[in-house]
Formats: sequence, structure tokens, C-alpha cells
Amino acid sequence: MSTDSLGYTVFVSGPVPMSVTEPLPNGEERSFQPSSTTLVHGERDAVLVDPPFTAGQIEEVAAWVTASGKNITAIVATHGHGDHWFGDNEFAKRFDAPVVATAGTIAVMHGNVEARPFAWDKLWPGQIPDAPVTAVTVPDNTLSLEGHDLHLVEVGHTDTEQTSVVHVPDLGLVVAGDALYNGAHMYIGESAGGGLDAWREAINTVESLGPRYIVAGHKNKELDDDATRVIAFTRRYLDDAEAALAKCSTPTEFFQAMLDSHSDLPYGRTLVWVGAKATYALREPGADPIAAAVGAWF
Ligand SMILES: [Zn+2]
Repeated sequence: MSTDSLGYTVFVSGPVPMSVTEPLPNGEERSFQPSSTTLVHGERDAVLVDPPFTAGQIEEVAAWVTASGKNITAIVATHGHGDHWFGDNEFAKRFDAPVVATAGTIAVMHGNVEARPFAWDKLWPGQIPDAPVTAVTVPDNTLSLEGHDLHLVEVGHTDTEQTSVVHVPDLGLVVAGDALYNGAHMYIGESAGGGLDAWREAINTVESLGPRYIVAGHKNKELDDDATRVIAFTRRYLDDAEAALAKCSTPTEFFQAMLDSHSDLPYGRTLVWVGAKATYALREPGADPIAAAVGAWF
């Protein structure tokens, strides 16, 4: 089949403020990172990847999908963090399409539902739709779009457990969820105890797919999707984070070290702070990983 009609477009939802009054250590108000939604489309049909999670963002992205004129055949969640899928059922209803994910991602989704009342609904009260887990797996983790394969490739731990990326070989495209970031600070709060090395392996897996384009789940919309640059950025950030973790003894020191080494990044400083608090909390004897991850947001 001709690849003439196959393509992708990205909508980047702006950072949403959080309902936490205490500012960041640098005095800044807290807000989330920008979030990417990708439409992989053929001539008539399209697959939607990682639509957003708050009511305002959902309306914006739904209008963008409608304006594309494409028939949505599936909605894919790359990983279990709620910002990548709490909106899925809204899109499933409006566009009459199933929600699809890997078995590992579906397991992590259930954990995020359990954490909702303690984290997500406190950070964005009344803004996140009801989100029971409705995702299903597909045979061989592969979808077909007008004769082109879309593979959900499992890459293991990245910014959470059991994550995946969507590989579209005929486009040279990887829709990377949070395996790769592009021009935003990265969330390392679930990567204590070897998680950064696991994440590096995930990046190697993505690189081995030979992509020309990588859409990062959190990106600065001014930047392109050049795969080589996005991979280099993500690797460098993990290296810098690891070096800062080795030399800093408090989350505040770590926060400042990452702002200093990445002073050009306009987004995600809240995530640096949250990641730092979670990671340093786990240095305390007997600390519970879930309590550390949830408590770090407040
Ligand atoms: Zn994530």
C-alpha cells in the first residue's frame, strides 16, 4: 500500500496549574508539563495516542481530532500514568473507538486509579473525568491502520513501570510516551534503585528501532521531533540527574543542581521537585515507595 497518505500530527496541551499553594523552592508556582497527543493517520482512519486528562484539555484536543476529519479506530495509552490516559474513556465515547494498551500498562493503570483520591484528584480537583480502566490488549500488541502496522513495543521501566512506545515502521516514527522527553525536565521520582539504568535500556530499545522521528510525551512544542536529538537530550538529562543524585544530599540541592545544569528548559521544574522529594524520601530506612511517590506532590 502506498504510504503517501500515512502521516502524523501532534497537539501539545499547555501546562496546567496545580492546586498546591506551597511554591517551588525557587518561589515559582507549581504547574504540570506540556503533554503531547499524537494522531497517526491514514487517508480516512487514525489512531490517537495519549490524549490528555483534564476537562479543559480534553475539549481542546477533542476539537482538534474532530477537525482532522479522520475516523478514530483506536485510542492508545503508552503507559499507566493518569495524565496519559484518564481522558481515554471520554475520547472512546465521543469517537466510538476502543482503548488499547499492553497488559503491563493496564496493570499500572489500576494502580493509578487507586492513587487518584490521594494525588491526582487533589492536584486537579473536579477536573479529571471518571476513569475506570477499560483498556484492552490487542494480538501481538499490533494495530493495523489502512494496512500499516503500529506496534506497541514494551520498553519496561522509564518514568514508571511497564511502559511502551508506539512504533510505526512505515513512518520511521516512535510515539514514545515518557520513554523520551524533549525540551522539558524529566520525572525521576519512580527511578530509585537502578531505575535510571533500566530507563537507559529502554532508550537503547527505542534507538534499535531506527526511528527518524520521536514524539516525546512531554515536549516543548517549539522543538521538532528529530530522533537523534531527542535521544541525545534524554540520555544527557539522565546522566546529569545521576551525577546530581550522587553529589547532592537534599532534594533542595538536587532541584537547584538540575535547574543550573538545564537552565534553558522552560518546562517541568515542578516535576524536578516532585521527583527529588520522592527519591530522597526513599533514602530513609523503611520508606514505602508508593507513599514516597504520592507524598512528594504536596
Ligand atoms: Zn509518565
